[in-house]
Amino acid sequence: MVDIADTSALLAWPAERVSSALAVPSQMAEVEKLSPERAMLYQAQGPEWATPSPQSLAEAKTAAAMTGDLPRLSPVDIELLALALEKQAVLHTDDYRIQNVATSAGIEWRSVTQSGISKGWDWELRCTGCRQRTPTVPDDSGSKNVSDCDVCGSPQELKRKRRR
Ligand SMILES: [Zn+2]
Repeated sequence: MVDIADTSALLAWPAERVSSALAVPSQMAEVEKLSPERAMLYQAQGPEWATPSPQSLAEAKTAAAMTGDLPRLSPVDIELLALALEKQAVLHTDDYRIQNVATSAGIEWRSVTQSGISKGWDWELRCTGCRQRTPTVPDDSGSKNVSDCDVCGSPQELKRKRRR
């Protein structure tokens, strides 16, 4: 099984795990901006850099246009989706727009946060009725199916919040 690491995965994963994953070269600029130490490491020993074909890029853009996410996805995001389509790989990302397009396009994806390594995000259940908030951990399947509120019985939504 081939793993593709988005930039949050490149920053969160141990170097050993990164070295067995694929990434696109344009992520290097993002890594440099967010973690110069990691960027230096990846110049010596990083992921396997791969560039998707123009045909895969076109397929990824079509898939993103169908879900309405295309205007808010970066060129790097599109390249990651294209590479995942091309390699039939598992895309590791916490970006819900990328996850949305991936689901629609039949790309398998996993959240980086769910691996328990990333410090980037907390998750909570929010009740649509009484607004109660409950900290939670999403399950591994990426499923957004959640239980109803045990206070008022209204449906709950799974939301993530950035840690301060
Ligand atoms: Zn409630």
